[in-house]
Amino acid sequence: MTNATKRALGVSAVLLGLALPGPAAAQSMPGRKVVEVAKDVYTMTGAGSNASFVVTDEGVLVFDSDIRNNDLPFIRKVTDKKVIYLFASHASGDHSTGAWYFREDKPVYIGTRDQIRAYYQNELKEFNERKAQGLPLYKGAELPPPSLGFDGTMSVLMGGLTFQARAEGYGHTSGDMTMYIPQRRVMFMGDLLNNEVHPGQAEAAGVFFANIQGTIDILTRIIDRKLPVDTYVPGHGAVHVGRGVQDVIDQRDYFVMMRDEVAKMVMAGKTLDQILKEFKVPQRFAHYDPGRLPGILRLFYNQLIEKGL
Ligand SMILES: [Zn+2]
Repeated sequence: MTNATKRALGVSAVLLGLALPGPAAAQSMPGRKVVEVAKDVYTMTGAGSNASFVVTDEGVLVFDSDIRNNDLPFIRKVTDKKVIYLFASHASGDHSTGAWYFREDKPVYIGTRDQIRAYYQNELKEFNERKAQGLPLYKGAELPPPSLGFDGTMSVLMGGLTFQARAEGYGHTSGDMTMYIPQRRVMFMGDLLNNEVHPGQAEAAGVFFANIQGTIDILTRIIDRKLPVDTYVPGHGAVHVGRGVQDVIDQRDYFVMMRDEVAKMVMAGKTLDQILKEFKVPQRFAHYDPGRLPGILRLFYNQLIEKGL
């Protein structure tokens, strides 16, 4: 962490009136950094989930927030303008729990209608359970629901930019949102895209929400749109500025090829335990960090044989 970042964090803590004990409170995880994806478009990455913000003359739009990473100081280093809109790509703790950090700016918080439902079904419950464990991070924090929900698509016009949010349907979770900004040739993908890391299972309150076929279908539809996009911003992993749709193709192919490999092992009579032990990641994805591999293998296995989970 740079001294400038430390100063920014200190200032913001005072401004926000945070009375949280210990250095862990209201800061970022080690390794968090900002990448400029396009003009006025920034992504915080390198630790936990990715989150982005876009600066306009009329204010700031934030896409995703995580209580483990207070990203407001990163925004304040670029602009003093208020956060006008906060979006969440989906209802998972690492993408939709940081609204509290922006509360002074009172942004309009927007999610899909599915996300609002998920908030009341499991998200708030999980948040309160963690809070009850006494983790310093959660002390004093609140989790508000989105104040505005939509199905289909929604366009927000602000500061000369168009923000096209789309409810993509059931993929990584029961409701995944993307956001396309045509004037910046950027699309925020949430957890529909993971660069060079195995995808997560979207666990919330003990339920695994990620759906393999749903994700393949959504990614295929996004590829077929042939949008003029230079950078698809992933929910996890490195941002490949300027790599275009190839990242989305890689992710779609990942799900197809990995499922195929698991299916071959199922056909050969392998148990889940044997698959977890013996699975060889196809060469194209062999360089991915193995951390989340067992989780996604379980998902492939259980969804192939219709055990759900
Ligand atoms: Zn995530």
